[in-house]
Amino acid sequence: MNIIILLGPAGSGKGTQAQYLRDQFGYSHLSTGDMLRSEVSSGSELGQQVKQVIDSGNLVSDDIIISIISNRLNQLVEAKVSGAIFDGFPRTIAQAHAFDELLTSQGLSLSSVLYFDLSLKASIDRISGRQIDSRNNDVYHKVSKPAPVDVQPYLITRDDDTEEKVTHRFNVYQEETSPLLSYYNSSLQRIDCMQSISTISKQLSDLIESFQVSV
Ligand code: AMP
Repeated sequence: MNIIILLGPAGSGKGTQAQYLRDQFGYSHLSTGDMLRSEVSSGSELGQQVKQVIDSGNLVSDDIIISIISNRLNQLVEAKVSGAIFDGFPRTIAQAHAFDELLTSQGLSLSSVLYFDLSLKASIDRISGRQIDSRNNDVYHKVSKPAPVDVQPYLITRDDDTEEKVTHRFNVYQEETSPLLSYYNSSLQRIDCMQSISTISKQLSDLIESFQVSV
């Protein structure tokens, strides 16, 4: 199984690119943010526990995240999927260590870590136009990726996408997540997020095709 991590701040385009890779290669797309939001909307005990943390822009505890990922990884292995894209996980060094252990216990290893590099200003600009399809979490943007007319009635805006919260989330990212850049140093590939969506998408498909040839 090809395992790809997408690392980068809010608005860097990880979700959009993960959607393309999912559709193009049939890989599973695992966004811990989407999983947590669906727990919140289901009203589950876990959802009630994490709602405030997500709304504040802080990180949910490592234990909760690792347990969610551990269950999902087992399901992926059982389903024998050809690839999985982890979008928004890991976000701390503790999560990265735990993920290494989970992968090793399943006889798996990382194929690549893609670092979506974006400034705070660009992050705020992009998030301010972000819209989500409430049915399947597909991501659109008012200017750079407008939703088709038939999707428009289903669009929502996330509660944590205000300028104040994006700034806070960016600071949390710098403090907690950016140390992962040196942790993954040898498997890291930097993506310049100021390129167009289609240029990045082509760059990522070429990369994944190169894994598939070498597998
Ligand atoms: P995202 O959709 O990736 O922007 O995540 C939205 C929110 O979910 C984050 O601001 C965190 O509160 C929480 N979250 C998502 N993924 C993680 C993670 N790997 N570790 C801790 N919290 C997370």
